[in-house]
Amino acid sequence: MSHDLPTRWVEHELHWHAHRSERSSSAKLRRTYDPDAVLLTPQAGAEWIAEQLTRYSAETIAIEWRTPWGVALDGPGVRDAARDRHALAAGLSVDALIATTTGDLHLHIDPHTPEQCPHHKSQATFTV
Ligand SMILES: [Zn+2]
Repeated sequence: MSHDLPTRWVEHELHWHAHRSERSSSAKLRRTYDPDAVLLTPQAGAEWIAEQLTRYSAETIAIEWRTPWGVALDGPGVRDAARDRHALAAGLSVDALIATTTGDLHLHIDPHTPEQCPHHKSQATFTV
């Protein structure tokens, strides 16, 4: 590993809820939803994103990333898993809007502390 990841996610015992939806939603609303996946490390989060991009790559027209520092547009064949890992490790969420030939797809990876979501705490603690 040549990149040092931020340790904020360890200090705050974060885990992430991954959501895939055809409709947009707020982070507050998503807290009431069952996640499509529970991710316990930034690596797992980046892998989940990569999996979704691969899964829909044949239909993808463009991908719009929404990070706290701005919006970035990527072509279908371009992705940067290191950037996703870094954002997640820093305790940030990663959101993407994938425009596909069959409609828009929203990807959300939301960080949760054990206080915000006690359900997965034991698993999260176990992997740290
Ligand atoms: Zn949780």
